[in-house]
Formats: sequence, C-alpha cells, structure tokens
Amino acid sequence: MKCIYCGCEDSKVLDSRSTEETNSIRRRRECLNCGKRFTTYETIETVPILVVKKDGSRQAFNIEKIRNGMIKACEKRPVSIAQIDQMSEEIEKEIQNSLKQEISSQEVGEMVMAKLKAVDEIAYVRFASVYRQFKDVTNFIKLITEM
Ligand SMILES: [Zn+2]
Repeated sequence: MKCIYCGCEDSKVLDSRSTEETNSIRRRRECLNCGKRFTTYETIETVPILVVKKDGSRQAFNIEKIRNGMIKACEKRPVSIAQIDQMSEEIEKEIQNSLKQEISSQEVGEMVMAKLKAVDEIAYVRFASVYRQFKDVTNFIKLITEM
C-alpha cells in the first residue's frame, strides 16, 4: 500500500473497519516514512471455493452447511452458538487463506472434526461417526479409544 504523498511502501494501520455495503475494508494508515495519514479502501475478493465430494462432483463451499453440521453434533452439549459460529468462521477463513480454489469434502470434514475435538469430545464423536460413516463397529471403537 503506497503512501500517496511520498510513495513509500511501508505504512502502519491505525484503524480498520469493514464497510458492509461495498464489501470492502476501510483502513486508516500512517506512512512510516513521512508520517502522513491516508485512508485506503481494500476490496475483499471472494473467490468461490468448490468442495469436491467423494464421487467427484463439486459444490460451492457453504459455511451454513458446516454450521448446521456442527449444531447437530453439539445438540444438548455445552457448546454455545457463539462457539459454533466462531469455529465455522475460522474454518472458512482457513480455507480462504489457503488460496485453494478447490478443497475435498474430506479436508473440510477433518477441519470440522479438529475444531469439535478441541471443544467437546462427544460432539466430535457424533460428527465423526456421521461424517466417516462407520461401516463397522471396529472403526468406531478405534476412534473412541484414540481419544
Ligand atoms: Zn509517505
């Protein structure tokens, strides 16, 4: 982000807030070279990410699905909606930051499981059992004993 006064590339961010209407972030910056202040607007680029399912079909990544899956897994568990929101947002961010255009449903599932495991083991086992579709009891027991 070049300083508009001296062209210096280094500036520090004093304040940043997102502007919902335009999907951009307004940042108040101070140039590290000349000390002048200026404002920048950075557009958030939302690259559509596709989730590749086991059968090779693709679907647009949908944070709501992750959220709903987590809510189901956390039913009657001491996990708040705020925690679920935070976890699903973290997953979305991680995926966007990876700059991948495609991600396998397995990777997404693993991310969800890792998050759930950290907050509630019962929710984790519930999600994992649905997600991994245990074909036999042995795998299920293996997962539980791994905990
Ligand atoms: Zn400057």
